[in-house]
Amino acid sequence: MKEAATHIPLPGSDQAIIAHIEHEAHTNIKSCYQCGKCSAGCPVAFAMDYPPRQIIRLLQLDLVDEALKADSIWICASCETCSARCPRNVDIASLMDALRREALAQGKITDKKVAAFNAGFLGGVKNFGRSFEAGILLYHNLKTGQLFKDMELGLPMMQRGKVEVMPHRTKGRSEVKAIFERVAQMGGE
Ligand code: SF4
Ligand code: SF4
Repeated sequence: MKEAATHIPLPGSDQAIIAHIEHEAHTNIKSCYQCGKCSAGCPVAFAMDYPPRQIIRLLQLDLVDEALKADSIWICASCETCSARCPRNVDIASLMDALRREALAQGKITDKKVAAFNAGFLGGVKNFGRSFEAGILLYHNLKTGQLFKDMELGLPMMQRGKVEVMPHRTKGRSEVKAIFERVAQMGGE
């Protein structure tokens, strides 16, 4: 009796990209049976173009480009409610994270503000070992050409000590920097 041929997606094809995203997220999109419990519990689904259930459906239909260009993956707050609620153990939060990394790797961020915020946040963690809010604000505003954006909120917060003017350098920052360098060696951002 003939054995059924194993389907191996062509490198660079949508199916290969989806298989890579599943591998990165340690989850299987085929397990999803579209019950919608993830979307019903997501606290930011109202602001998304595709709620979590629909993101999974796009991937099931091999529409990876649509998923990578969706605002939803950047609106996701990584709260993990969806993953906790899923009756099929689909780790949607991890999938959102893998989609963000793939979108960055492919330069698929259509919103420059999101990219600037992301770079500002990661730059602070890399250099100081933790997030540096004033640095994020400054970097974001410089990169997006809106120097005084949110200053009316930022300055009073700095004056009241709610946002630190100078970065706080944590003890373990060299270890954090080493993690970033290791990720870069592995081909990450
Ligand atoms: S909760 Fe799980 S099974 Fe239900 S739609 Fe979401 S991912 Fe699919
Ligand atoms: S992890 Fe993201 S997609 Fe899932 S419930 Fe939280 S915000 Fe929504």
